[in-house]
Amino acid sequence: MEQLWSPWRSSYIASTAERSADECFLCAAALEVDDPQSTLVVARFPSTIVVLNRYPYNAGHMLVAPIDHVAGLASLSTGAAHEMMDVTQIALRVLEKELHPHGVNVGANLGAAAGAGVPGHLHVHLVPRWNGDTNFMPVVGEVKVVSESLMDMWAKFSAAFREAVSV
Ligand SMILES: [Zn+2]
Repeated sequence: MEQLWSPWRSSYIASTAERSADECFLCAAALEVDDPQSTLVVARFPSTIVVLNRYPYNAGHMLVAPIDHVAGLASLSTGAAHEMMDVTQIALRVLEKELHPHGVNVGANLGAAAGAGVPGHLHVHLVPRWNGDTNFMPVVGEVKVVSESLMDMWAKFSAAFREAVSV
């Protein structure tokens, strides 16, 4: 994902480094069950949450994470790992339905050396991609999508997840 140019992330990276180890926004999101809008949680499963990235690389950038504060993919329980992959599939269907991306980057950065912004809490990134978006702002056709606010995206994705899991 390095090819995506997103200069506003530099402030995020700096603030992440300053945070103490016991603060974790994914745990905060997992624990806040009454106000998912404040934490941008768009779907909740028995051991997995889906959160909109507050500092997206692209419109619709989601994080799929275990509810438990687990750093490693290999150390995640088999059940939680399987659910995480099931949820990733659902999230991909939601992206396809709502945003019609031309492609999606799906991946996890395990450990700070690999680029993890929150190395203590495993999360899989789903970054929808459109042809020509390597400088972040798609020039043709997608201006409406990238200009949507996070709250609009949250409402849209929350509804889409409810629909996806009810069928
Ligand atoms: Zn955590």
